[in-house]
Amino acid sequence: RSYLDRIAQRDGELNSYISVAPETALAEAEAADRLLAGDSAPPLAGIPIAHKDIFCTRGLRTSCASRMLDNFVPPYDATVVERLRHAGCVTLGKTNMDEFAMGSSSESSYYGACRNPWDSRCVPGGSSGGSAAAVAADLAAAATGTDTGGSIRQPAALCGITGIKPTYGRVSRLGMIAFASSLDQGGPMARTAEDCAILLGAMAGHDARDSTSMDRPVPDYRAALSLSLQGLRIGLPREWFGEQLQSAVADRIRAALRELEALGATLVDIDLAHSELSIPAYYIIAPAEASTNLARYDGVRYGHRCDSPRDLHDLYTRSREEGFGDEVQRRILIGTYALSSGYYDAFYKKAQQARRLIRQDYLDAFGQVDIIAGPTTPGPAFRLGEKTDDPVAMYLEDIYTLGVNLAGLPALSMPAGQVDGLPVGLQLVGPHFGEAQLLAAAHQLQ
Ligand code: GLN
Repeated sequence: RSYLDRIAQRDGELNSYISVAPETALAEAEAADRLLAGDSAPPLAGIPIAHKDIFCTRGLRTSCASRMLDNFVPPYDATVVERLRHAGCVTLGKTNMDEFAMGSSSESSYYGACRNPWDSRCVPGGSSGGSAAAVAADLAAAATGTDTGGSIRQPAALCGITGIKPTYGRVSRLGMIAFASSLDQGGPMARTAEDCAILLGAMAGHDARDSTSMDRPVPDYRAALSLSLQGLRIGLPREWFGEQLQSAVADRIRAALRELEALGATLVDIDLAHSELSIPAYYIIAPAEASTNLARYDGVRYGHRCDSPRDLHDLYTRSREEGFGDEVQRRILIGTYALSSGYYDAFYKKAQQARRLIRQDYLDAFGQVDIIAGPTTPGPAFRLGEKTDDPVAMYLEDIYTLGVNLAGLPALSMPAGQVDGLPVGLQLVGPHFGEAQLLAAAHQLQ
């Protein structure tokens, strides 16, 4: 009730939720209360959380912040939703985001922009901006997010919370609406690394219904939080401390790194030589995969359908034109172009080759160091509208986050102080399935 009251008070201004589900939340809370009175309560009994509106929730609209899915009520729960429900979590509602998770500011939502609770003139980041804003403003104890190119880490950084993008394959993608299937990964967003560790433990694990989920035991992330940092080798990529990084942010990051040194870690300069290829490679591969994933929205089976179509072709084109916003249409056009016969080798294949080089840089670096550290974003939260007319300026927001998705690695963002009263994030990247070490470092730094 306390969270629902706060949502009613504060969310008119923030717009962090697309849907709130008070009746089912209260019924779930009462059920949790009864379990807590006994002695077999599940570990997260009664914890009120929110889900990014990209996760299918049975009986509760799942819009992906798009007009295309404004009328879509899923008949099933995403595996992540099901597992958290099973662990006892109460679902408060569904959070705002960029349409189909394409963006870095949560401004492209069909339901209007979400705002940053630290300064409502600023964006909360994106695409999981609603989840980050809701957690930062105490409108949920924690939330789920998805990260295709930074969408958990960048909003976590801009809203001053902690969020972890797990290794590709660690968390099931079943019921998580697909954007770029080789990059998408769901994860928790919460106030602390400890909360993230608890939630990740409940979300992770093999799912026979997602062929890309790994059949590999889930460590006890919470128990691992006290792992010693003595002798931990932390790599600092030279490419991440260049001229794009605002100097006040660099100062905050260096201060956090000194604290890690004081906890026993050693800092090592490293190279990620192909870093500059990550934006061009990502912005071919992600739109290419999006263009095929979004082909399913044809106005026939579910989702938006235009009024009185003249024929089948008119039904397809008008439903898609009306259902998708500008950024989504831009991605479909770029992706379709890049995959066209005659252009495939020049764009898509080239981008895949660049992806391979980026991944190899990370694997080589992990031969020398245990984790990699640096900024999550070049600057703190920016003003609403500042980058909406310039897609490339928006894409540059992802400069430090995209490589991690291209390489399939785990990475988190945690608060690292403030610049001009706005939070900035420290990013920690680990080798494949190295989540426990990242969470331990973040926990001890907090
Ligand atoms: N900002 C990136 C994009 O627009 C990443 C988004 C994401 O991680 N979902 O594609």
